[in-house]
Amino acid sequence: MFYKKNLVKKIIKYGKMCGEKNFTPGYSGNISARYKNGLLITTSGSSNSYLTDKEIVYTDFNGKSLEFKKKPSSEKFLHIEIYKRRPEINYIIHVHAPYLSSFASSGKDLMEPIMAENVFYFGGIPLAKYALPSSMDLVNNTVKYFDNYDAVLMENHGFIVASKSIEDAYMKLELAESYAQVVVNTIVLGGPKLLSDNDVSKILELR
Ligand SMILES: [Zn+2]
Repeated sequence: MFYKKNLVKKIIKYGKMCGEKNFTPGYSGNISARYKNGLLITTSGSSNSYLTDKEIVYTDFNGKSLEFKKKPSSEKFLHIEIYKRRPEINYIIHVHAPYLSSFASSGKDLMEPIMAENVFYFGGIPLAKYALPSSMDLVNNTVKYFDNYDAVLMENHGFIVASKSIEDAYMKLELAESYAQVVVNTIVLGGPKLLSDNDVSKILELR
């Protein structure tokens, strides 16, 4: 059983960790946890790095706040539709981490097999087509990738990762952001050396 108080504590803790690593500058991003028949999500206009328990709101799957005078993040439906689609997912972190957002803003995915660890954990990180933030088009363009992936770049916007545990979601965010940085560096150094199909299938067998 997940207690509300514990989930709120976890969201605050991991929000702060995202801030310490500059994954979630300013007011960007939002974090949520599945709770009862809905979710606990950061409120509209809150800053993930500096959350208090007042900035996390119990919201139902219709996007309606179940707490007096608290307004959920405008990206609530992005979270809700992932929870609906993937019953085993319990936590979602959406951020505008600089390196991942650089790929998203260049219209580039992270699907090429460049680093063994990344192939192992992600397979690849696809790029969802741009749509206006908080629109249902954004939800539709992004959520479909969660049928095959746990982490997705959002074009001209940022990154979103989902997992069973918040620890794992955060670790995957940290891996993905450092991976994006490595890929930029490989370009500076003359371009990445790609892993072969054979290398990739051997890595995937390790899973
Ligand atoms: Zn965003």
